[in-house]
Amino acid sequence: MMSTILDPNTLLKASRVRDPRDIDVERIAIELGFRVRYVRMSSCDARILMTKNVKSITVHEELSRHRQRFSVAHEIGHFCLGHLAKNSAWSCEANSRIYDRHDPEIAANRYAGELLMPEFLVRPFIDNKEIDFQLLQSCSDVFRTSKEACAFRFCEIVDRPIMLVNFNTQTRKISFKRGRTFPSSLRLISHLPSHTLAEDVWKGGHSRSEETNAWHWFPDVEVDPRNYLVETAFRSGERIVIMLWWSNEQALIDLNEN
Ligand SMILES: [Zn+2]
Repeated sequence: MMSTILDPNTLLKASRVRDPRDIDVERIAIELGFRVRYVRMSSCDARILMTKNVKSITVHEELSRHRQRFSVAHEIGHFCLGHLAKNSAWSCEANSRIYDRHDPEIAANRYAGELLMPEFLVRPFIDNKEIDFQLLQSCSDVFRTSKEACAFRFCEIVDRPIMLVNFNTQTRKISFKRGRTFPSSLRLISHLPSHTLAEDVWKGGHSRSEETNAWHWFPDVEVDPRNYLVETAFRSGERIVIMLWWSNEQALIDLNEN
């Protein structure tokens, strides 16, 4: 039974990746012994199967190219994380990014993020840039992944204070993921705040970034012009994805000390 954990960096090193353009997930899958196929699928977006005689990854042909790559990387994740030792097949949804669960699907998503957007390439790419919609768009173009996957990865890697919020337009519930350095003392509002860019995007406004008062999102924060966020919002299927970046870090430090 396969239960060895192969980490993404080992795979990237083996395929001599030095640039985002070098990341060829199909080739990595083939090198791991899988056959990769794109077919019409109705019950799920992607599937991995491993039996005694067959090793295959099947991806829905109608997904966007970015989502197809993410799906292949996600299935590689199931294999390399040893999930197939328990189940010989997994059926997956490409769009199931749930923020507050710990299960094999989340682990495979994280793995896919690390494989498609390795830290050693993402860090220099972000460097001293503004964490805004333009950066997400160029990250998506360069790394050939969705903007949401980029935002998620920023949360995992970047040292600057960012938070990712997911608003489900059907249930109207929000969930969130705090970036590595975002203070846990700041309590996020429990619903989508009105008069925000996120609300505008939900009502049909175009995806973009804008500066906003921090208290819109963090009701305990004082109303002070120094406390503002760069808010980025875009639509992803039935969800609005919001990335909040507390760009005035000194104000945040002062806030924490008081
Ligand atoms: Zn999966």
